[in-house]
Amino acid sequence: MIIIRQIDEMRRAVRREKGQGRTVGLVPTMGYLHEGHLSLVRLARREADVAVVSLFVNPIQFGPKEDLKSYPRDFERDAARLRIEQVDYLFAPADKEMYPGEHRTFVEVRGLQDRLCGRTRPGHFQGVCTVVMKLFQAIEPDCAVFGRKDAQQALILQRMVADLNIPVRMIVAPIIREPDGLAMSSRNTYLDPAERKAALVLSRSLAEARAAVDAGNRDAAEIVAAMRAAIESEPLARVDYIEAVDPADLAPVAELREGTIVALAVFIGRTRLIDNMLI
Ligand code: AMP
Repeated sequence: MIIIRQIDEMRRAVRREKGQGRTVGLVPTMGYLHEGHLSLVRLARREADVAVVSLFVNPIQFGPKEDLKSYPRDFERDAARLRIEQVDYLFAPADKEMYPGEHRTFVEVRGLQDRLCGRTRPGHFQGVCTVVMKLFQAIEPDCAVFGRKDAQQALILQRMVADLNIPVRMIVAPIIREPDGLAMSSRNTYLDPAERKAALVLSRSLAEARAAVDAGNRDAAEIVAAMRAAIESEPLARVDYIEAVDPADLAPVAELREGTIVALAVFIGRTRLIDNMLI
């Protein structure tokens, strides 16, 4: 695996690969890799000849009171994991390489960026879209793989690619969970043992919602209310949002149908966790 820190070097390497007829797949990450990330890497390796993983904790997608400073980092461990997965290139630029001076240009996907997580995290998706656009410019991948764990992010990025005619094939991969159901996340490392247990309310409430849907209930308000009750019964949990939304515009729906996304964000202590399911 070749580790690259400079944008121009990354672009040259990819152009060389493409010149030899190989396709390139990109997996953008913020590191502290877990099995969820690695599932995307494996998918990229299946979908393209050359796998590039980017590792960059993007400062502009964090709010002023968020966890940029404390975000977990372990470069050597991440690199070792990616070597085992036979990743070809690890692109790990410094902050100064990505944002060398005052940055004035941003990509936003209006409307979609303000829903769900966008309400609690204003500016977050603008930061995500801008960095992914920059990664696409630096790497010029044929395809890019994102996780459905961040369902809103995936939908917003797909919309950005469509609206701006970006020649990247977008692939969205399923959520990888711990054996007990908790969706894997780098932020799970913030949880102490009691919080780790309490965090199960997210996946449990989704499983109960799934069971209600399977039993024929399509009433979004009823299903969301039952999820809220389940989560509020957990003393360490505080609901940020629970919503059933249309994937096209992320607007709340009254009735669940195929394609509806049931998404939630919950604070467990001071850690904000998200999860979702696709009907
Ligand atoms: P992050 O490092 O948190 O920015 O995540 C990088 C990519 O991994 C994003 O596309 C996420 O959606 C994806 N991802 C994170 N956790 C999971 C998971 N548990 N299952 C599947 N994909 C995930």
